[in-house]
Amino acid sequence: MRGENDKKKKASKFNLEIILGFLVSLFLIGSCLQSDTKSIASHKQIAEKIVELPKEYLYGFDKSTHVFEKVPIKKNQFIANILSNHGIGFSLINTLEQKAKDVFSVTKLRAGKDLVLVKSDECSEAYCVIYEPDRFSYVKYDLRDSVNVEIIEKEVETKIKSTSGIVSSSLWNALAQDTFRDLLVDKMEDALSWSVNFYSVQAGDKFKLIYEEKWIDDEPAGIGRVFGAYYENEKPHYAIYYENEGYKGFYDLEGRPTKKGFLKTPVKASRISSRYNMNRYHPILKRRRPHYGTDYAAAYGTPIRAVGNGVIEIASYTRGNGKYVKMRHDKVYQTQYLHMTRFAKGIKRGVKVSQGQTIGYVGSTGLATGPHVCFRFWKNGKQVDHLRENFPPPDPMKAEELPKFMLVKDEIQFELDRIKIVEDPALTYNEEEDQNSALLAENLK
Ligand SMILES: [Zn+2]
Repeated sequence: MRGENDKKKKASKFNLEIILGFLVSLFLIGSCLQSDTKSIASHKQIAEKIVELPKEYLYGFDKSTHVFEKVPIKKNQFIANILSNHGIGFSLINTLEQKAKDVFSVTKLRAGKDLVLVKSDECSEAYCVIYEPDRFSYVKYDLRDSVNVEIIEKEVETKIKSTSGIVSSSLWNALAQDTFRDLLVDKMEDALSWSVNFYSVQAGDKFKLIYEEKWIDDEPAGIGRVFGAYYENEKPHYAIYYENEGYKGFYDLEGRPTKKGFLKTPVKASRISSRYNMNRYHPILKRRRPHYGTDYAAAYGTPIRAVGNGVIEIASYTRGNGKYVKMRHDKVYQTQYLHMTRFAKGIKRGVKVSQGQTIGYVGSTGLATGPHVCFRFWKNGKQVDHLRENFPPPDPMKAEELPKFMLVKDEIQFELDRIKIVEDPALTYNEEEDQNSALLAENLK
């Protein structure tokens, strides 16, 4: 009976791997057109190698021929004390301290963490010292050959997982019980934010998610990409992840971006007179000062338009900005428009505006040499170069791209549809689907 079950389990795992392999190959077709079959083959080889590594090796040393001694770093204890207590001479320790300076200084070692001494057997002297500043990397102080210091990134394994659930109250975020679930809620909102209003979720709403989970040292370490999201209130909503040259992000089942893109420029028929630049020479202040915006030169009085739907947060004046408007588009994005000659009618704090609506007119108020809009893009409260951001295209996908998208879409939708919704009224992992996809997705990067 048990053997029978195991066999079934194996069979279904095999199927899932084939499907995921296929899925991944479709992504590969999308992202690297030329040699998809070749790269899959080599990825498999890489995957096999990496899967074997953690069993036999620790910090790159063969476990069967090395001893790893953990030494906790106590408060106010210097590495020199620890190492000399373990028989390492002061001149070697001194060399280590000097060489470590430019890579990972020993002054950065923290009490409460461990040093790991690598030896060939219990009695011999350590020839390598390991320190893990975080879970993603370790520092290797190799005492052989006049000391070498190196920071090594750990192997990250990617598993494809799914989750599903039924919302039990309108407090969607309250369902998130730990960091990962919190992140998953964020990812779900990100994927579907333009089609589902997450400010008014209802008890009984259903959701499903297929996503990558990053593993380090056989422990979950974070969430990667979301491949598919499903949310059902009065009707079902899908978000399908798809990458192409112009944009990586979410599309609906017809191939329309699930998020509405921003307009490329706040003024029609303008030219960029100065780009976002961390080291710009300011023409008026006559000194180097970062320029956190993109300047669009246009004639006095040219209408300035909102690049996306949103709410006006500020319509005001400062000596530097002149007359300016700042608006919020969603949880993440705000935009700001400087040096206006005047605001458009009705533009003030709290007013809702739609994409393309005129909010003011080009001028040179504040610190400006000539008529232009200094356009500033804020992401999570920080100013970014909007020309370098990965925004959804404002137009639907090109017709010639659609067949490729549809292949990916069919697979993801199929996988989403066959996830059984867990009745447990909380964000619950679907353990049945919790299977290792053997690093395949990792190679999509
Ligand atoms: Zn500017």
